[in-house]
Amino acid sequence: MSSIHLLSDLLINQIAAGEVVERPASALKELMENSLDAGSGEISVALQQGGVKSLRVADNGAGIDRDQLQLALSRHATSKIASLDDLESVRSLGFRGEALASIAAVSRLALTSRKQGERHAWRMEAAGGDISGLQPAALEAGTVAEMQDLYFNTPARRKFLKTEATEYGHCEETFRRMALSRADVSFGLQHNGRRIWQLPAASLAQRATALLGEEFAAAAVPVEEGAGGLRLHGLAGLPGFSRGSRDAQYVYVNGRFVRDKLIAHAVREAYRDIIHHDRHPAFVLFIELPPEMVDVNVHPTKIEVRFRESRAVHQLIYHALNKSLAAPIATRRSEPPQ
Ligand code: ADP
Ligand code: MG
Repeated sequence: MSSIHLLSDLLINQIAAGEVVERPASALKELMENSLDAGSGEISVALQQGGVKSLRVADNGAGIDRDQLQLALSRHATSKIASLDDLESVRSLGFRGEALASIAAVSRLALTSRKQGERHAWRMEAAGGDISGLQPAALEAGTVAEMQDLYFNTPARRKFLKTEATEYGHCEETFRRMALSRADVSFGLQHNGRRIWQLPAASLAQRATALLGEEFAAAAVPVEEGAGGLRLHGLAGLPGFSRGSRDAQYVYVNGRFVRDKLIAHAVREAYRDIIHHDRHPAFVLFIELPPEMVDVNVHPTKIEVRFRESRAVHQLIYHALNKSLAAPIATRRSEPPQ
């Protein structure tokens, strides 16, 4: 074994990229989260070849200062937290300051941005971690992040990429998760020059109808319940719209899409008596709680969270769903047969 030495920044970023940029869809998630954190009202995504060839996210958010573009691409550089207190009460989707640095380490990344009031935009490029000079550029206020040739400099990782169709499928699912999380924001998606989605700002019911279909909307009941600082709201599909897989189950904690065993259990229990055991309900549920009550810093991609009061969360979900689902089912059962 050789002597101990510090790793280079590039290698550190490439190692981190293994977790943060597992595939094009994970880069897409990070870039769209940045756009939402920047307060954007409109986010447009354009992909080429499933996001492997290129993946572009354009927004009309706050923008990045010319002097800060380079910093934005550096590891552990963030505008979102500054202290442990901030971390414990974080409301933004990002805070680790590693997404752009990780993406820049394993692709060619260009960041073009214009703050409100600036005369024009500035553009900065990075290829395999090498950052190159600032250039003036044309852009309305906002930011465009464009990633090209993912893993061009890490061939071993490139081999793990699946077919274009598979990678595109993951990107589209990421897009759906984001678009369902913020019905008030308008979203667009293009793939290989073809328009796939154009979603104007809308209500949750309208957004869910667009993304999950009329049938879901017709078979969904609103959920709304609050207790002790916790709030659950959203749409729960009635058993008539049950599916063979869990593909239409969306749960958000403070705006963040999560997969959580505790939540899944509470939902399963609530549906247990009304749905066949090998069918799966469809739902879009939002749990809101004070940031201090949930730890989102469990995993680099933040798909897992830890609740401080997990029993209270479980009970809220179970009871709220029970109540919302029971009423329409009771009504239907009492309807005379036709
Ligand atoms: P994090 O989101 O965890 O802060 P990132 O590496 O994703 O880390 O981004 C670094 C910083 O770059 C952010 O904190 C933010 O200040 C800035 N930034 C990135 N994307 C955008 C965007 N689309 N609009 C405005 N600022 C952005
Ligand atoms: Mg981020």
